[in-house]
Amino acid sequence: MSDGSAAELNEIERLDKDHVLGTWSYQSEVSPTQIVDGDGVRFTDADGNEFIDFSGQLMCSNLGHSASRVSEAIAEQAADVPYVAPNYTTEARARLGEKLAEVTPGNLSKTFFSTSGTEAIEAAIKIAKFYTGKDKVVSRYRSYHGATYGSISVTGDPRRLAAEPGMPGAIKAPDPYAYGSTMDPMESLEYIDEMLMLEGDTVAAVLVEPVVGSNGILVPPEEYLPRLKEIAHDHGALLICDEVMAGFGRTGEWFGSDVFGVTPDIMTMAKGLTGAYQPLGATVVTDEIAAHFEDEMLTHGHTYAGHAVACAAGVAAIETYQEENLIERASETGEYLEARLADLADAHPSVGDTRGVGLFRGIELTKHPEKRVPFGERADKLAKGSTVVDEVAAAAGEHGTYVANMINTLIIAPPLTITEAEIDEAIDALDAALEVSD
Ligand code: PLP
Repeated sequence: MSDGSAAELNEIERLDKDHVLGTWSYQSEVSPTQIVDGDGVRFTDADGNEFIDFSGQLMCSNLGHSASRVSEAIAEQAADVPYVAPNYTTEARARLGEKLAEVTPGNLSKTFFSTSGTEAIEAAIKIAKFYTGKDKVVSRYRSYHGATYGSISVTGDPRRLAAEPGMPGAIKAPDPYAYGSTMDPMESLEYIDEMLMLEGDTVAAVLVEPVVGSNGILVPPEEYLPRLKEIAHDHGALLICDEVMAGFGRTGEWFGSDVFGVTPDIMTMAKGLTGAYQPLGATVVTDEIAAHFEDEMLTHGHTYAGHAVACAAGVAAIETYQEENLIERASETGEYLEARLADLADAHPSVGDTRGVGLFRGIELTKHPEKRVPFGERADKLAKGSTVVDEVAAAAGEHGTYVANMINTLIIAPPLTITEAEIDEAIDALDAALEVSD
């Protein structure tokens, strides 16, 4: 993989660097690496280097890089009818709505379609406001909900700072972060209860990732999410679960909410919805909320809402999860991954914590295991784009494993098709890479 120095860029990488404005990046420091091929859990760069994809790219390639059923469905739909205006329908859109009603819990039954996670969140915020007639949204500090104006305002992590003061009424609460926070996870819930009481009857929704993703893979205690739903409802607020990263088998259940037996009022999803074969977002609501919009207009929509090709990819992806038993498989392989991460924790003093559920796990690094002191600060990371955890991830790349990282945590979210032997290969690469932080 290129280290980013200008001399090493091939023609495509040079064109990309000159003409594409990168996301979240500093143009002078970040150089693109051209990827030319993907097969199963592996992908290959233009120099022929092969990598195990231990993070499913941006925690979205849940089906790996050669799910032929999905690619074929995309080609067929594009050949038949690629696009119709949202006031028409297609078999693909109707069948995907039906499938989502089938795989989501409880009485979640109707879906508003968009094209990304951030749009799924925007729709959820507006639906909650229209339905409750209230304006505020409570979300948590260690969270990411998207980059557009509303969704970045309800995001808690430092990526929100550049967009502040942001959307009015976006209030932040503490998190269930047992390893690094001074507040016990269940205590943090009672704090939220008090916050809602003090806000009076003005909060439309409480928005959480049931298992926090890019902010460090935080799994709350079993009782947390059921109690949060109770607290939200006691104060007349809806519970929105953001399943954009945790959904579609990542946790060993269809959705992160299923791990805790909770049906939220609104569920948002994207990423694994098509296994990243097409951009698609979805906001699924309960029967009651859907009924409200029989009489009242949902003043929201996009040209590409329910795009036929993306919906065809979604149907084929869900059929693949079902027919290849990928959800159960993620639960089983997840146990193996958990044991192998524990081996890394035993071997490396810089591994402070390994945590997660299913194939959704994190390795949090520390420079002082007893005091749990993090490497660098969040603000440093945002300002400079480089900390020890970046160096560990880069070293893993040198050993043939791609792993995403954020703040002090390596984020492990491979395709659900990964085998134990492939996990072993990736763990060997991390074992070598962690020498950098020890
Ligand atoms: N919500 C969560 C939990 C996410 O992890 C993300 C993206 O990583 C988003 C929302 C935003 O999704 P997108 O990047 O598709 O807009």
